Amino acid sequence: MSTNFEINPIKEWLPHINNPLLISGPCSLETEQQTLETAKLLAKDPRVFVYRGGVWKPRTRPGSFEGVGSIGLKWLQMVKKETGLPVGTEVANAQHTEEALKAGLDVVWIGARSTASPFVVQEIADVVKGSNTVVMVKNPVNPDVQLWVGAIERIYRAGIKNIVAIHRGFTPFSDTIYRNYPNWKTVIELRRVMPNLPIICDPSHIAGKRELLFEISQKAFDMGMEGLMLESHIDPSCALSDAAQQVTPADLAKLLDKLVIRHQTANNPEFETRLDMLRSRIDAIDSELLEMLSSRVEIVKEIGRYKKENNVTALQINRWAQLMDNRVNIGKALDLNETFVKILFQLIHEDSVRMQTEIMDSE
Ligand code: PEP
Ligand code: MN
Repeated sequence: MSTNFEINPIKEWLPHINNPLLISGPCSLETEQQTLETAKLLAKDPRVFVYRGGVWKPRTRPGSFEGVGSIGLKWLQMVKKETGLPVGTEVANAQHTEEALKAGLDVVWIGARSTASPFVVQEIADVVKGSNTVVMVKNPVNPDVQLWVGAIERIYRAGIKNIVAIHRGFTPFSDTIYRNYPNWKTVIELRRVMPNLPIICDPSHIAGKRELLFEISQKAFDMGMEGLMLESHIDPSCALSDAAQQVTPADLAKLLDKLVIRHQTANNPEFETRLDMLRSRIDAIDSELLEMLSSRVEIVKEIGRYKKENNVTALQINRWAQLMDNRVNIGKALDLNETFVKILFQLIHEDSVRMQTEIMDSE
């Protein structure tokens, strides 16, 4: 099935947007006062477009704060009334979704743990069917792009066209500075499969700590993502969940001041001309690279035939080790990244061995 879905651009449901989509608010709503005070401060910043607040909190282990529950929906309604900001929360089952829709929330999002479960996503899709709610789908906890696409597809098939994907990082399997490591490859793959889908980044859950928020947010813009979800709290040190990664609305504004927003194009003919010129140089170099590779393949095949006549193996470990050392050294002298050169020659060598074994096994 084609995944070239007609998903709406953000502007369709947020016509006044003139900047990247910024969603901010506390990880969890805790009290009416905390909810409203945070919202009022955020609403003063024209860069904030949507207010978020977790009402039902998916916690990895039981016993931690699991959210205030349905009462939080009332507080979100108050935020909407008093600040005019659209409001949203996370839903993790049919009942949450029914309540959120009934409360008139503008946005619901599916959390990472739920996206990983097709049953849960379908349950939510069945409830949002026919509504005009914006549905945001966080990536699943594991870097499985098909699972992410599948969740988006379930929502789309329920007739929802206002969909946004959120990159919030993936569960790490080894030591990393991130709470959830960002896997940009998976995001690029999602963009390739669903070119119309707006994708934003959630640096808070990737970082796990305030200190990393700027770097991840900038990277998200450098990668052409269309917005950010950043957690904020009037007093992060007292937050009942995710205290280390939340910032005050004032610190959020400072972070936003430092970020460079990048665009798909510069709307500047001089820039376009120079970019075209540089790109045509890249195109010419790439075609030369391919021609050189094709000449290399001819020689590899000739060696294969020669080895076959002389009953010599296709793989010769010593030659391979020498070749790799030599190429890495040449690469270093040319200022090329060592890992890149190694991976490149591993690929080239693997394919050479494949071609030679094919020659040896033929006839
Ligand atoms: C959240 O947004 O507060 C949250 C729990 O998100 P995630 O599903 O990314 O863990
Ligand atoms: Mn959180």
